[in-house]
Amino acid sequence: MTVSVINGDALPVMETFPTIQGEGAFTGQAAWFIRLAGCDVGCTWCDVRESWEADKHPVRTVEELVAEASARPARIAVVTGGEPLLYNLRPLTDALRAAGFRTHLETSGSSPLSGDWHHICFSPKKFKEPVEGFHQFADELKVVVFNKHDLQWAEGHGGKTRPDCALFLQPEWSKREAMIPLVTNYVMGHPRWRVSLQTHKYLNIP
Ligand code: SF4
Repeated sequence: MTVSVINGDALPVMETFPTIQGEGAFTGQAAWFIRLAGCDVGCTWCDVRESWEADKHPVRTVEELVAEASARPARIAVVTGGEPLLYNLRPLTDALRAAGFRTHLETSGSSPLSGDWHHICFSPKKFKEPVEGFHQFADELKVVVFNKHDLQWAEGHGGKTRPDCALFLQPEWSKREAMIPLVTNYVMGHPRWRVSLQTHKYLNIP
């Protein structure tokens, strides 16, 4: 069998690292992060611009990625980017599951879903619309709040999710002083939503 990015047996990887999940429903839990390279979304406030160009990062095999993750104790593997759904993630999730990991995805939903996931965190972006129907895959909806209008935009997305989907509003980091009061007031008045903070940044970990 040929190992290639096209069939998902190898993937461009910006970085892998152990950390504490800082955002959303699994905040505070130890996790192994796999940050794939390549993104076609182009958020103006993106804090991982180095991930955008896939060809600036090495291609690594799924076998190598899972062996590396298995050497650490955490058994939540978070696949993030970049935009990880630019690739076929089925071989990666199958191998992670076989090695005993929970598989968690962080995505903008702007490319078709692949992979077999225990938990999908869907974070839609205004800069590239999600694919039709993606909201139904979301176990968690996380909307980054950059301005007041984003709250209304978030409701539009929240209304398309499943009833059991956890809804989070997350103040954009560079505007957090202005956005935290906006988000906290909104959540108090709209209790289906929860606040997500980028706690890893407060903890000074990746
Ligand atoms: Fe950055 Fe993520 Fe937006 Fe891509 S989708 S530009 S990686 S914030």
